[in-house]
Amino acid sequence: MRVLKFGGTSVGSPERIKSLLSIIRSQTSGELGKKRQIVVLSAVSGTTNSLVEISLAYTNGDKQKAAELTKALHEKYKVFVAELFSTEEGLEKGIDLIDYHFSLISMFANELFTIIEERIILAQGELISTTLYHLYLTEIGVKSKLLPALDFMKIDEDNEPIVDYITEHLQPLLDESPDDDLFITQGFICRNSFGEIDNLRRGGSDYTASLIGAAIRAEEVQIWTDIDGMHNNDPRVVKGTKPIAQLSFDEAAELAYFGAKILHPQSVFPAQRYKIPVRLLNTMEPSAKGTLITHDSERGKIKSIAAKDGITAIKIQSSRMLLAYGFLRRVFEVFERYKTPIDMITTSEVAVSVTIDEVRNLNDIIEELNNFGTVEVDSDQTIICIVGDFGADKHGYAARVFESLKHIPIRMISYGGSNYNISLLVETTNKVEALRSLHNRLFE
Ligand code: ASP
Ligand code: MG
Repeated sequence: MRVLKFGGTSVGSPERIKSLLSIIRSQTSGELGKKRQIVVLSAVSGTTNSLVEISLAYTNGDKQKAAELTKALHEKYKVFVAELFSTEEGLEKGIDLIDYHFSLISMFANELFTIIEERIILAQGELISTTLYHLYLTEIGVKSKLLPALDFMKIDEDNEPIVDYITEHLQPLLDESPDDDLFITQGFICRNSFGEIDNLRRGGSDYTASLIGAAIRAEEVQIWTDIDGMHNNDPRVVKGTKPIAQLSFDEAAELAYFGAKILHPQSVFPAQRYKIPVRLLNTMEPSAKGTLITHDSERGKIKSIAAKDGITAIKIQSSRMLLAYGFLRRVFEVFERYKTPIDMITTSEVAVSVTIDEVRNLNDIIEELNNFGTVEVDSDQTIICIVGDFGADKHGYAARVFESLKHIPIRMISYGGSNYNISLLVETTNKVEALRSLHNRLFE
């Protein structure tokens, strides 16, 4: 069984939706004959953003604005549906479907609006796209079966997906339909520990695909987007970047934090745990090889350079740190109390620097850290990360990295945390130069 996930732009227009079938079909036959597939769809591009806006209007008590935004999105879907279906019967079903979902969204004007209602609204995008696709396939005479993600996709109290639960509830649905080989389901949406409708956070459809792949021990998970795989550097600022043919799960995990645009950061882990290969492919260029993520790592190779902006560095300097134990724990506890993840850490004997990208509670954090010593904060920083097998570093890669950055001030260096990564912190104004210089030295 294979899992194929198509993102928002891949279902972004009637034309794009119609072209998916040729990709799906090209994947159905293998050495052992016909393959069963689960197709995971995102909402039509832009929809989830609009649903967020509608929810915000409701939250603010602005029913008028919510109604206007809902109507505008409904109108967009009317045009969409008119183009998608070619028979009167198909069109009628499509119209009924979107009318149903938009009247549901409108009904929230009469209710107390909380986060629970907001999550119901956010779920409508994927519910619409998957049902529309199922109706379209039915219209053109292709048999498919809709699998309601809300019946099997589940997260616990800590918002962690429960793979065993997904297996237990999804496998019977597949076994129930031995004659079906094309299943369609919603990305992103799930139920939480209270049984309420919830979601896997923005961009979560990749995560859905990986979780399903893990839950049913799929042969492969394919993430179809509009880029030809993960590139070995940022193509927006560096010329001559190339798709990475193969990555190990560990390397992909290091990169996912930076390349969230192509792969949801958390989606590597379920596939890694159950050793399910993940392929990143391009809907616009289906025959391109893309990037294959597997358990194997290629020895002694540098794979990619990536960057993440919007980083804040915090330095805590204290003579109390000298020869003390428990100091770092107390520092980390401050971040824990404010639910703020730390990304990079470097220490000296009397100081520690950490980076964060979530600054909502920065002022409170600094206030508490002031109890430990002198605190300095640098914002507008960028983490640059070089990923590959640095294991024995027989190739002098670390030296080459620093060689190529000798003209750029480096605020932090982190090496040795894993065998697969060197991370550096520079001012964002130096990012482009750093990426280009590293690219020339490491890849050209
Ligand atoms: N539709 C959701 C979002 O826009 C999930 C996804 O597309 O992956 O975040
Ligand atoms: Mg996405």
